[in-house]
This record gives sequence, C-alpha cells and structure tokens, in this order.
Amino acid sequence: MKNLNEGAVAFRKKDFDKHKDLFGDLSSSQKPHTIFIGCSDSRLVPSLITSTIPGELFIIRSVANIIPPYKKGSSYPAISAAIEYAVLALGVENIIVCGHSNCGGCAALYKSEEELQHLPHTNLWLELSRPVKNKVTQMIPNATQAEREWMTEQMNIVQQISHLFTYPYILERYNNDTLKIFGWYYIIETGEIYNYDVDKGYFELING
Ligand SMILES: [Zn+2]
Repeated sequence: MKNLNEGAVAFRKKDFDKHKDLFGDLSSSQKPHTIFIGCSDSRLVPSLITSTIPGELFIIRSVANIIPPYKKGSSYPAISAAIEYAVLALGVENIIVCGHSNCGGCAALYKSEEELQHLPHTNLWLELSRPVKNKVTQMIPNATQAEREWMTEQMNIVQQISHLFTYPYILERYNNDTLKIFGWYYIIETGEIYNYDVDKGYFELING
C-alpha cells in the first residue's frame, strides 16, 4: 500500500500537472467515444494498449470479459447498467470487447465443480460462457493445451459480441451504423492485438 500512496503523490506532481488543462475540461462532463469491455486481469491496461487519455474510454471490466445477455429486471445488473448508460446517455460510437492471452477466467471454464467450489460466484459467472467450452471441444477435440487456450479465449470474445447483440438498442444502432463493435484479442507477451471482424468472421492483426 505504501507504493500506491507514493504513486498517488507522484501522480499529482507529474502526470496530473502535465494534463492539468485536460482535467479542467473534464471536470464537469465526459464524452467518451468508446466503451472498452475488458477482462479484469491486472495485465490488461486499456489506456496503455490504446494510447488513450482520460475521457476517451468508458471502461467496464469483468472476469473473462463476460457480458451478460440482455435481460430486463436482472437483480444486480452492473455490467448491463454500465453499457446502457454509456450507449443511451453518453452516446458512445464504438464498443470494444477485449480478451487476452493466458486468461485465467477462460481456463477456469475447463475446471470441475469441485475445483471451483471455493469460488462460487466465479463459477456462477462463468456459466455465461459455458457454450464457448462446448463449441471449442467440438471444433478441435484433439487440441493441445495451447491450441485449446487460444481458441477458447478467441471464441469467448465472439460469444460476448453475440451477447451484445441481444441488447435491442445496441442491435438497432449497429444496424443503422451509428455504433461499431470490435472484438480484440490482446497477446500479453508480444503486445499484438487481433481484431475480430464481425462481418467477415475472423481475427486480423491490427498492430503488426
Ligand atoms: Zn482474463
């Protein structure tokens, strides 16, 4: 914690000072252009990998970048509320769903009920991505560990995009071209980002 406090002091002295005008402009309103829905993993740093400054990204994080399908009256609709606010109140123009290599959440899809017994909420949350495990197992039944891993992580991004399309206001805006949707797969050790082209149906390297 000492490091974090020292970091807060350093921020105020250096970075805050550098962006003083920007923070002044942002003090009473925000107009982010993009919702970035990323895995909660500490190694995925949205502003760093997009070279963006405060005010640009509306960031939503969840375990394995899972997005619940649209459901009215859901008990604790944290992710859906954040999406709703950013699309309907702030009018963002893009949504990026960002998964990454070596994702613990995606790997946990293959763990048994017993193995996840001590993580009951994680287990419940991962239910939303169980179809991904089934698809990958069918597509590449004899996959190596590494093949299964990257295929699961990529298919999970595609699955979450399909969940986004269950939100009526997202589908409407996507169809009339006022909202764009991207699926990013970030490789931690190389910095490479592959984008899933929703229309073409495959991932392409965007920062080679
Ligand atoms: Zn992850």
